[in-house]
Amino acid sequence: MIYLDYAATTPLDPRVLQAMLPYLEGEFGNPSSVHRYGQRAEAAMEGARESVAQSLGCRSNEIVFTSCGSESDNLALRGGVQGMRAASGRDRLLTTRAEHHAVSRTAADLAAHGGFRVGWLPVDGYGRVTSAALETALDEDTALVSLMYANNEIGTRNPLQETAKTCQAHGALFHTDAVQAAAYLPVDVSLVGADLVSLGGHKFYGPKGVGVLYVRAGVALRPQTTGGGQEGGLRAGTSNVAYVVGFATALRLLVEEREERVAHVLPLRDRVIGRVLEEVPASRLTGHPVERLPNHASFVFEGVDGNLLLQLLDDAGFACSSGSACKTGNPEPSEVLEAIGLPREWALGSLRVTLGAGTTAEHVDSFLAALPDLVAKARSMFRR
Ligand SMILES: *Cc1c(COP(=O)(O)O)cnc(C)c1O
Repeated sequence: MIYLDYAATTPLDPRVLQAMLPYLEGEFGNPSSVHRYGQRAEAAMEGARESVAQSLGCRSNEIVFTSCGSESDNLALRGGVQGMRAASGRDRLLTTRAEHHAVSRTAADLAAHGGFRVGWLPVDGYGRVTSAALETALDEDTALVSLMYANNEIGTRNPLQETAKTCQAHGALFHTDAVQAAAYLPVDVSLVGADLVSLGGHKFYGPKGVGVLYVRAGVALRPQTTGGGQEGGLRAGTSNVAYVVGFATALRLLVEEREERVAHVLPLRDRVIGRVLEEVPASRLTGHPVERLPNHASFVFEGVDGNLLLQLLDDAGFACSSGSACKTGNPEPSEVLEAIGLPREWALGSLRVTLGAGTTAEHVDSFLAALPDLVAKARSMFRR
């Protein structure tokens, strides 16, 4: 079986596991306890926080540990708009339908049940928001703008610094979901420029079930989990010490090894994109051809059921994704592919191939040798 779905999740780096093990075995203390068991756990938490802050180029009191990327997105959006409404009465949130569901469904929920207004910004054919569209939409009621750093489904990388400046000029908070981007793009917060940045450990060889929200000093969020005073009062609950240590280790290794990781996947990705477009009839690349994640190739094939194609690929020994959460028996095109304007006949046939540390040229070549026939087979079985 060949794994080509690193955008969904990555295996745990053995070096990360080694760093975590002491806190899954003997070191079981609660960091909030006064005694020495607690002190040692507290030291591990603060060491990890310091390490994450160093990796992101910020201060350690700007790091909030959460349970996942989705929770970070929820805390940023819900906490951000509630904090802004309390401080200034602003009640409007701007985002797009090309975001991960952790952002788009949270925005929809805030509109349906939170008493906030949501403006859905239009995106171009690559899933990007133009600066003109953002300028037009921003007003003095806008509390927060949320635009992702790189798109998990179509790989497009968004320029953020301009957006950050525009939001700042209008007094709105700017949040970016960097969960998918972090594995390959710079995460230094001064480069990213956002007030709030979401990260998740399992997309860069860390453990599942741990995330971070960077909260720029001075940004007033409302906590979404109340109780003990953990995480600066922003997220109650006994700290998950082992996973936090794992997150910090995975992020440190990522920053140290980023260039090598990019250099490993980029030529393989270009081979996948070039040969699929050449050898599979009626195929198109989705997302930006140049400004895209270096490990990410995503396509649509006309007149193909993407889920059927995934099953055929799985039978042939390849683990890929359609890029969206849509399941077999629910042939709805993804909201992201609809947002970028793809017709249904194309959008139903999506395929995402994402590479990583374990991917070799042989893996890619055997995938490329198998794909054209499998697409042809899926196409012959397509029912309109
Ligand atoms: C994976 C992902 C998430 C969700 O992160 P979890 O840690 O799985 O909750 C959010 N946004 C993007 C862009 C992602 O790729």
